[in-house]
Amino acid sequence: MAPASRARLSVDLDALAHNFHAIAAEAEGAEVAPVLKADGYGLGAGPVARRLRREGARTFFVARLAEGEALRAELGQGEAQIMVLDGFTPGAGERLAASGLTPVLNGVGQVSAAVAFAASARAPLPCALQIDTGMNRQGLTLEQAAALAQAPDRLRGLDIGLVLSHLGSATQPGHPRNAEQLAAFRRVRDLFPEARASLSSSAGAFLGANYRFDMVRPGISLFGGGPEERPDPRLRAVATLAAPILDIRRLAPGDPVGYGVSIRAEHATRVAVVGAGYADGVIRAARRSGKAWAAGAHRRIYIVDMDLTVVEIGDADLHPGDMVELLGPHALLDDLAAAAGSIAHECLVRLSPRAERLYVERALAPI
Ligand SMILES: *Cc1c(COP(=O)(O)O)cnc(C)c1O
Repeated sequence: MAPASRARLSVDLDALAHNFHAIAAEAEGAEVAPVLKADGYGLGAGPVARRLRREGARTFFVARLAEGEALRAELGQGEAQIMVLDGFTPGAGERLAASGLTPVLNGVGQVSAAVAFAASARAPLPCALQIDTGMNRQGLTLEQAAALAQAPDRLRGLDIGLVLSHLGSATQPGHPRNAEQLAAFRRVRDLFPEARASLSSSAGAFLGANYRFDMVRPGISLFGGGPEERPDPRLRAVATLAAPILDIRRLAPGDPVGYGVSIRAEHATRVAVVGAGYADGVIRAARRSGKAWAAGAHRRIYIVDMDLTVVEIGDADLHPGDMVELLGPHALLDDLAAAAGSIAHECLVRLSPRAERLYVERALAPI
């Protein structure tokens, strides 16, 4: 490949496919329904969804109505079910119908709005129902769900194909809240025995058979984020952000680097000035402790500015024009997130369009 003159974000669609099947193996028979909100976790919902579709995905989730419309345009009418987590927001009925999107109803107000819409459209409205089993964020309470289940009139015209809930502590397998939410979700499933059931996102999909139900909804693990917020050997890195070395400089002990004087060389060393910064999606909070990868070793990140990242390279044989991996198969997403005091999800969605984008996949046989 020709040397890059600017930062490059490559998205490895084969690694994505690998992760999809790794999760499917873990989920043993449950449907794997990718969550592609925020433009496919920043990596491009269109190319990501098309590849996952080829790998067998039949249902996708997005957060916003507009994300659903964009994904429908990418996939085409009739191709796969697209569920909108925001649900039946005011005025959404016509747009949901026009793009063939399935709302995830989150509250009694949404349920009544959907019932009214179905009555005026004189057609059953496919939808899902989200129940809050203990995260206290989104969804009907258990009591509201039970009241609805006993009053079929209040659900008239709704074709509830799925009931779902979301785990708040699944990245900690031993946390007691997991078992509490599981018990609550079993009650939900019994209230709506005709509907399929889904409790787990990425982390939950790895919690064992009890948590799988009919469908798991992974997002981050499709892109290589480990279910316990640390690198997991079963998953491969999908996003690689690399940028060229623009310059190499020598530092004497105590030399300050960049803005302010709080970050200083601890010893005589060399640093590489790399052509990507937080405007490209390198998390600024990863300065001081984050690790990049170059010339076969991890390299400490000194500072992250808008356009530049300074990385300690010691006496490594590196030159201007050589590429430094700021995120990828060596500078792992979960490690970067930990260094930045964040989570893998945020590190991915912050990747910006400034870096040149490249989708990488081996040639696929036509289907
Ligand atoms: C974002 C989200 C997911 C996916 O979560 P990951 O941790 O990325 O796997 C699943 N379900 C719901 C309701 C979500 O909001």
